Amino acid sequence: MSREALLNCALALQALGLNQGTSGNASVRQGDGFLITPSGMPIDEMNANSMVGMNMYGEAISAGKPSSEWRFHRDIYQAMPEVGAVIHTHSMFATTLACLRKDIPPFHYMIAVAGSDSIRCADYALFGTQSLSDNAIEALRERRACLLANHGMIAVGKTLQQGLEIAKEVETLCEQYWRALQIGEPPILSTQEMQDVLEQFKDYGNWKK
Ligand code: 13P
Ligand code: ZN
Repeated sequence: MSREALLNCALALQALGLNQGTSGNASVRQGDGFLITPSGMPIDEMNANSMVGMNMYGEAISAGKPSSEWRFHRDIYQAMPEVGAVIHTHSMFATTLACLRKDIPPFHYMIAVAGSDSIRCADYALFGTQSLSDNAIEALRERRACLLANHGMIAVGKTLQQGLEIAKEVETLCEQYWRALQIGEPPILSTQEMQDVLEQFKDYGNWKK
């Protein structure tokens, strides 16, 4: 069941243009561990049995090679008990801004989708390393998304569906910010204005905490 759901999430990431080929990965919490997409396998070649079960010690408990990013998936589940799914993309606009190592300020109220008043960009570290995981955990503090310098983005949700929705929204925000920057420097909402948005979001659609 979860294997199919995770496969469908990987397929959706590709269909939405957020990932392609072997770029990016996804996982879903399962029991005391999690299921994660396989490493280095093009999305088109994956099936439900390609998904790899892992425990919180980082050991594979089913056949296959887990995503090279299992460390940040595991560390997010450990650090954020409310999180049930982790999505990682190399999507165009998030990655473009991540390549500039830019935090995304509250140029639009929907920044609150990511849980606070900005989306941070984590410091650069080599893919698949504990350093990248440490930097991502730091950037995700009180957040549901972050950019990864010179790499991509991470979005987390209570469910795969919510994680996917947040990833889509973050990508849209990154495109909007990029577009606005072509014309000028967009005015930024104040701390109070963003607090008001976050208050409204406590009872708004898919973004409820
Ligand atoms: P995997 O194929 O090992 O999941 O790696 C893809 C990726 O995005 C690394 O950051
Ligand atoms: Zn990646």
